[in-house]
Amino acid sequence: MAETEKIQERGTKQKTVLKITDMDPKFKYEISKIPGAEKVMLCFQCGTCTADCPIARFDDFYRPRKLIRMTQLGLKDRLLSNDVIWLCSTCFTCVDHCPQDVGIASIVRALRNLTVEGGRMPVGYKEQASNILKTGYAYVISDLRLKKRQQKGLPALPKANLESVAKLFDITGFSKTLEKVRT
Ligand code: SF4
Ligand code: SF4
Repeated sequence: MAETEKIQERGTKQKTVLKITDMDPKFKYEISKIPGAEKVMLCFQCGTCTADCPIARFDDFYRPRKLIRMTQLGLKDRLLSNDVIWLCSTCFTCVDHCPQDVGIASIVRALRNLTVEGGRMPVGYKEQASNILKTGYAYVISDLRLKKRQQKGLPALPKANLESVAKLFDITGFSKTLEKVRT
């Protein structure tokens, strides 16, 4: 993919003309019904969240202030098709500093959940979830690494209760979600 296309895909750097048909006026209400995201309309775009966000410091595209504005404007399709929403580390720095008590991290979580409900999940997240189901760990830990731990006298890693993990995935419906989502 050409670099300009990549920039367009991530979608927040270049100037874009908004069409009224791109906006879903009901989206902000849909979001504000989700626990933790109720205060989305209180954002007055001061930019404190972006200034303090550790991800925004290292990524030219991730701007929590902009995500909140896009949500207010109802740019649902752009938000839910944009991988930038998956960059948030859920550190809650923005939440602690927001003068309007907007639950930015919860709003980002709501956007991610809607993306998954729509049938899409970034490949890295899907892999991690599958690893948890198979091994109890988000990352597959190689035999070499386990051997090195042993050589260094470190204790063995705790064994995951895979039966409980599988039960949890089933009860929450996450097993079915994992089967269905595309990356
Ligand atoms: S800090 Fe709060 S009010 Fe300011 S831009 Fe971010 S979400 Fe909006
Ligand atoms: S919770 Fe997400 S948006 Fe907020 S400061 Fe941390 S990384 Fe940035």
